Amino acid sequence: MAEEAIPGSVILFFCPLPVRFVAASGWSGQKSHSTASLIRASQAAQISCAGTGQASALDNCMQERESRPTSAPDAIVIGGGLGGLLSAAQLLQRNKRVIVLERLPHCGGRFTAKTFQGVQVSTGAVHMVPFGSSGVLAGMLRRLRVPHRFFDADVFGSFHVHGQQYRARGLLGVFKFLGPRQFFWFTRVGYLMFFRPLPARESHLPFDLWLQRHIDVKRNPQLVAFFERISRFALSLELSQVSAAEVVRTTKNMLRYGAPAIVDGGCAALTGQLERHISQQGGEIRLSCEVLQILQDEGHVTGVRVRDKLSGKEEVLVAPLVVSDIGPRATNALLDNRKITQAEVLKSKAAKEEEADLALHEAVGLKVHVLSDVSLIPHKGIMYCLDTQRIAGIVQPTNSDPRLAPPGKHLIISHQVIQSNNVEEERALALADLRRLFGEAFDKHCQVLTMGTYRGEWPVNRLAQGEDVLPVTSTPGLYLVGDAVKPSGYLMVEGVAQSVNQFLDLLDLVDQEQGAVRSKTFSARTHRSRNVTSPPSRLNAIRWLWKAPGNSGKI
Ligand SMILES: Cc1cc2nc3c(=O)[nH]c(=O)nc-3n(C[C@H](O)[C@H](O)[C@H](O)COP(=O)(O)OP(=O)(O)OC[C@H]3O[C@@H](n4cnc5c(N)ncnc54)[C@H](O)[C@@H]3O)c2cc1C
Repeated sequence: MAEEAIPGSVILFFCPLPVRFVAASGWSGQKSHSTASLIRASQAAQISCAGTGQASALDNCMQERESRPTSAPDAIVIGGGLGGLLSAAQLLQRNKRVIVLERLPHCGGRFTAKTFQGVQVSTGAVHMVPFGSSGVLAGMLRRLRVPHRFFDADVFGSFHVHGQQYRARGLLGVFKFLGPRQFFWFTRVGYLMFFRPLPARESHLPFDLWLQRHIDVKRNPQLVAFFERISRFALSLELSQVSAAEVVRTTKNMLRYGAPAIVDGGCAALTGQLERHISQQGGEIRLSCEVLQILQDEGHVTGVRVRDKLSGKEEVLVAPLVVSDIGPRATNALLDNRKITQAEVLKSKAAKEEEADLALHEAVGLKVHVLSDVSLIPHKGIMYCLDTQRIAGIVQPTNSDPRLAPPGKHLIISHQVIQSNNVEEERALALADLRRLFGEAFDKHCQVLTMGTYRGEWPVNRLAQGEDVLPVTSTPGLYLVGDAVKPSGYLMVEGVAQSVNQFLDLLDLVDQEQGAVRSKTFSARTHRSRNVTSPPSRLNAIRWLWKAPGNSGKI
């Protein structure tokens, strides 16, 4: 879907340099998104305001906020993707008046689906949540009291290798296809990743080079493929594109939180519940409403200029707080009242890559939806494909929720990284892989529903894992959430949910500061991180040895 999913007429935005945003971790993934670092970034932004007279603009805005009519919103959320919807729900819980503006005729962004031939064909995510019922997203939904149900995987995964599928209930199950020698090196790598602190000189290394330092990659081909395919499926990155530190942090979190899960009803059911929740709590969602510009006065955000795409009418909406779920590039462009098309983003990407240090690196992918008469994957988790040319992994979400496809049929979704600019070739290789994996059954029982590429302004991740920015911007009152603001170690929608937690911590800090300035009692030490929580105990990871932890045996 993806490129096809963005209506040709929709105008996208582009800015060559993310100058207004604070890079969170850079390539090394060294700086953590702790509250302390957020506070520092927030203070830096405030300091830069003070230097340009923006502090007084903030005061003006505060006074304006107190004297505004009751119908005016306290906050405007740009984009009704998962990040935007979660932010809106959180702001409503804090008794703020919120408007969500979504340019498409529906909410959900890359985490929803369209019904096609009775199948829930997703606009992005494969109906899967990385850390399942114990994850950050699940925790946030519980706290918001948004109805949802996640079916955790019942396996660590299965692995298609040597022409057959090996099922691994827990981590030790990889012995079946690695054999004793490669399994020995698997445990060695596990020790280096999880028990020994990663030396500073190694954390910056791309993971493929890190692996080369510790194992003989030629003699351990399946072990290398194991890491490569998991990285391609989970991060949409090659091992050369992600640092050792980021792989270690992300893997630790994956093991500590728990098994991935399929969402009951699929992505659309979850974002649909969030939309209902927002409406019930008095929030307003405007669909087909495109933000054309983010407005500022003396450096402080004051609102947005929008266009109703159905009537063509333009309007200015005023609010002291604007939350952007559309990524740094598009947000930056809106600040400058600029826009370009998806085609221009893709065209300019090659040129930008030459300025590697300044470019925003997104994670790109290709996804195939297949409808099958027969079950091809016998579990609720991911089948990693170690003997394919392109496909990294496949899920069969109908094993968890049969309603995602017509009765008696199965939905199968494959995912791969796009490795060249030749999309036709990438598609052909995907089909060749599906035939290789399932043999005659593929031609006899399967129908390809869609093949979609995800890149440009509709990528798998707006910023590659480990290269994300912070939620704070140098424009007071303007914050970022979403998949370009993932904290280190949090992938996909877990990163999106955690980006919202980071934003809330900043907001609480600003509220606390403003309250304290009024009463003259502020001390930085009084701030406590309330929303971003630490991952569960590392002992949780031990549960993975024999079987996948989670609710799979219980529901
Ligand atoms: C192929 C693929 C597979 C994936 N698989 C998984 C998975 O299995 N599990 C998982 O957890 N994650 C997965 N992801 C990632 C996940 O889909 C994203 O991380 C998540 O949906 C991003 O949400 P978001 O709110 O940050 O952004 P988006 O979903 O992109 O939301 C942004 C919204 O803003 C709107 N918008 C943009 N510009 C404007 C404007 N000017 N005015 C108004 N509205 C605007 C857009 O229309 C969009 O609705 C996958 C993604 C892809 C593409």
